[in-house]
Amino acid sequence: MTTVSVGLMEGSPAIEVELIGTFSDAAGGRVGPGLRRLSAETVLVPDDPASCAFAVEGVTIGIGFHWERKERQTFRGALRILRRGAGLTAVNDVPLEEYVTSVISSEMSASCPPELLKAHAVISRSWLKGPSATAPASPVAPVDPGSRAEIRRWYGREAHPDFEVCADDHCQRYQGIAEAASPASAVGEAVRATEGEMLLWGGAICDARFSKCCGGLTERYGTAWDDREIPYLTSIGDGPPQPGADDPETWIRSSPSAFCNTRDLELLGRILPGFDQETRDFFRWRVEYGAEELGELVRSRLSVDLGPIVGLQPLSRGPSGRIFRLRITGERGDVVVGKELEIRRALSRSHLFSSAFVVDREAGRFVLTGAGWGHGVGLCQIGAAVMAAEGRGYREILSHYYPGTVVERG
Ligand SMILES: [Zn+2]
Ligand SMILES: [Zn+2]
Repeated sequence: MTTVSVGLMEGSPAIEVELIGTFSDAAGGRVGPGLRRLSAETVLVPDDPASCAFAVEGVTIGIGFHWERKERQTFRGALRILRRGAGLTAVNDVPLEEYVTSVISSEMSASCPPELLKAHAVISRSWLKGPSATAPASPVAPVDPGSRAEIRRWYGREAHPDFEVCADDHCQRYQGIAEAASPASAVGEAVRATEGEMLLWGGAICDARFSKCCGGLTERYGTAWDDREIPYLTSIGDGPPQPGADDPETWIRSSPSAFCNTRDLELLGRILPGFDQETRDFFRWRVEYGAEELGELVRSRLSVDLGPIVGLQPLSRGPSGRIFRLRITGERGDVVVGKELEIRRALSRSHLFSSAFVVDREAGRFVLTGAGWGHGVGLCQIGAAVMAAEGRGYREILSHYYPGTVVERG
């Protein structure tokens, strides 16, 4: 059986857990149910994997995003505690199919249409086993305030030396078994119905990226990560062909017909996890800043002091309108920022919904009108949910978002 190692938390002086059932430690000792405060390296393996579980207090989810919060979460499988310089690291070793079950019900709601859950099972499995496992992060570029410096960053999965994946949005959301519990049958059924199935292109497992809402056009891989063309991570229209799709300014200011352009609150209520339902306006959105406020944001987020901001100039955009090079000009200098996630990080206390935005000046303020939520590469979760609700099967959904791919048992 394939096992996945998931990092649950790092840098804690001690980890509070509640054991549900009896576990064995590395020395063969028995550890019974109840509250435990773990402050040293250990491995706890459940005696009965089907009934034993452990709950961890204070797991942070949505790190750095607007939905960040701490939760108590419950997991199956083994718990490993490692000691590192910054404190203790908690790692959960869990069977692949259980991991996929939890990811689907953390990323989406268990009350989603079944074909969406199946599509998500296939891509969550493929994402884990596919080439994203070794996708490179950017080299760290020097920051030279006040000159024509360029900050160009993206983030890869090799940031985790002690485990394969973290439990948060950086990798895939993995929030334990509580979310999967009701109604457990729907998610469990989707995982069983697609057991072992992966997304393949040319015989190899795909890098099955996904994001919340593309905004009407999906994005190509290289806008968010290293400069490569991945044939199935290309830009597609998320719906019928629309006028204005070739001009980002027109496109972002319009509200084109697309699978993910839905106002069906009943459907959104069924497909999004509770904390994502706090976010309603994601297909098109708007934020605004004063010049000083923006300068302060850039200073705190990028450690570059440009003074009050006088201009935001998109230099390069991908086909969905997402900016991947943005010049930020202040009274004391300017800097070019990329790629899409770094731009979103620089211009918000959490993260902007996306880097697909146009900039207007209104009474000295900067008004950003934007499209979509997330990087927009690969499957659009909201669009896929709408396709499933319209009665389309998971294979059709996957071939829409990943053109040229096939679903096969790996
Ligand atoms: Zn991660
Ligand atoms: Zn979409």
